[in-house]
This record gives sequence, structure tokens and C-alpha cells, in this order.
Amino acid sequence: MMKRIVDSLLDLIYPRVCEVCGRSLLRGEEVLCLHCAFDLPRTNVHNDPFNTIHRRLATVSVPVERAAGYFHYYREGGYNDIIHRAKYQGRPSLMRAMGERFARELESDGFFDDIDIILPVPIHWMKMIRRGYNQSAYLADGISNVTGIPVGDNLRAVRGHSTQTSRSDFSRWLNARSVYCVRDSAKLAGRHILVVDDVITTGATMIACCNAIISAVPTVRLSVLSLGVAHMS
Ligand SMILES: [Zn+2]
Repeated sequence: MMKRIVDSLLDLIYPRVCEVCGRSLLRGEEVLCLHCAFDLPRTNVHNDPFNTIHRRLATVSVPVERAAGYFHYYREGGYNDIIHRAKYQGRPSLMRAMGERFARELESDGFFDDIDIILPVPIHWMKMIRRGYNQSAYLADGISNVTGIPVGDNLRAVRGHSTQTSRSDFSRWLNARSVYCVRDSAKLAGRHILVVDDVITTGATMIACCNAIISAVPTVRLSVLSLGVAHMS
């Protein structure tokens, strides 16, 4: 309830303009104008049963079933600003809106068929206090709004990781290990879980989450989804 009120207030503060090109949004347009929605650099990888996300998650201890990423996360082009604003500029409702949009596009391809629960990648409570929200939880809410699949809070971040920006891929991977744990694991037994995160880069965070889930509940099935898919250099 409180979240809704805050979101509505923020919607009043922020003018209704396209987050990419800045044009005023027409009635029925949300976050993106029709033009920028059309030009969104969609990955469409979810149609490929072994795509770039699967490859990044190859070290997960059971095969990841379905993997979807909404758009290519380029440095230029303006679309990455949506994620940046959601994450660092106090506008997580952008994540929910993009989650709804992506879910509507994926639904007709059967991506969500037989998925039982959505688990957002968690953030450590210290980061939660600093930022005030977990952007991936908003993404999960958006997907849930469209699909009706419930969102769980079983994934927990048990220790914060230090800033990852200046580290090598390998030390990022090491750094992100063992950060996640699962609570109420019995409730996840035999379920098909969709793990969601804002951006997939090396896959280290997603690998750590998936492996934490599997070691707690070996009977789960796993699929993953992110909004942005960063290119590997
Ligand atoms: Zn636009």
C-alpha cells in the first residue's frame, strides 16, 4: 500500500516522458514511446534453447532450462538509462513497468508455462538500507502482475559484496560466491523457479544464486530472466 502511494507521488513528480528520447508520452504509452519501444534492441534469446545466457551459466550445477533477456545492454543508446534510473536514481517503478512489458511479450511464447514461483536476486540488507529498495524485486512484481506467478523471498543475500566494477571477471566470480542462501527451502521442493535480475553480465551473480538454490533444494527446476544482457568483452 505504502509502496503504491510513494510510486504514485513519484509519478506526479516525474513528467510522463519517454525514458529514451524524452518525448511526451501519449495516453497508453508507458516508460517508452511507441517509436522507442519498437526500436528497443531486443535480444529474443529466449527462443534459443542454448543461448548466450545459458552459456554464461554453464557452471550452474543443473542445466538452466529457459533463459530470457529483454534487451542488449549497450553503453550508448539510452536504453541502459532505464535500468540506471531504476537502480540508482530512486525510480524502481521503472523496473516494474519494464517487467510487465517484457512479460507481456514473453507470455505468448510460453516462456512462463509451468513456472511456479519467481525469486528476485536479493541485495544485502546494508545495501537495502542505503538504496531503500531492491530493483530486482520490482522487476519480479511486474512479471507477477502479468503472469499471476507468485514472487517469493526465499533467496537471501548473507553478506554484501564489495564494489565489483574494477575487478577482473574471475575475481568478480570469486567475490560473488557464497553470498546467497535460501530460507524455507522445503517450500521450494520440486518447484520450477524463475530467478530474475536487472542485468546479466558475466553471469556470476546468477550462477551464485542458482547454485545456492540447488544446494538447498536439489529437486528444483531453474529458469532465469533479466532485463539487460550486457555484452561480454
Ligand atoms: Zn522515445
